[in-house]
Amino acid sequence: MPLLSFRNLPFFHPPRAFSSMTTKARLRGVVFDMDGTLTVPVIDFPSMYKAVLGDEGYLKIKSNSPSGIDILHHIESWSSEKQKRAYQIITDFEKQGMDRLQIMPGAAKLCGFLDSRNIRRGIITRNVKEAVDLFHNRFGIIFSPALSREFRPYKPDPAPLLHICSNWGLQPHEVMMIGDSLKDDVACGKRAGAFTCLLDETGRYDSPEYENVEFKPDYKVSSLLQVHSLLENNFNLNP
Ligand SMILES: [Mg+2]
Repeated sequence: MPLLSFRNLPFFHPPRAFSSMTTKARLRGVVFDMDGTLTVPVIDFPSMYKAVLGDEGYLKIKSNSPSGIDILHHIESWSSEKQKRAYQIITDFEKQGMDRLQIMPGAAKLCGFLDSRNIRRGIITRNVKEAVDLFHNRFGIIFSPALSREFRPYKPDPAPLLHICSNWGLQPHEVMMIGDSLKDDVACGKRAGAFTCLLDETGRYDSPEYENVEFKPDYKVSSLLQVHSLLENNFNLNP
């Protein structure tokens, strides 16, 4: 009768020192938010919200939404006439933003690094496809898949991220979502089972009001320039 190998027993766990050397997760793909993450924030969101919701409505919704306003969600229950007007206002603000579009410092270099390691990159944005096309054309760095607002349901639903993972043939735990929104990007990433990195340029998420949010990021950076070393230190980047 063969001797039972202790390694086959269900309760066997490798010794701690051994496991710490081998448990760096493999990272095979990074999905970016676009506005405020790959591009410098150019949309004046408070003004846009006020224009859509009215001053009073804006203040009321703002006080009930500590992690940020989900404007598309609020509009969805409106009458079609009211909705149409709201979408027009949003489109106008987004168009103004497109004219002033700039790439985020560190974004191009980070993409070059990801390419050098054969790590895939995609985009999930709540902005329109036209804005993604403009970004691709203006900066010449292509992300694929790049899912825009036309893909439903959008962030913070995990569906767009799960769609990208299956398109890449990767598991969510091999992918990181990077974005500047706790309520959209981090929530989408965590719900999908991916790693998440919050880009918080100003430290606004250090405020106590964000202490008890449901989804917390695995990592936080104040610049995309920090992501390169974060990935090298915490992940197995070998193909
Ligand atoms: Mg953003």
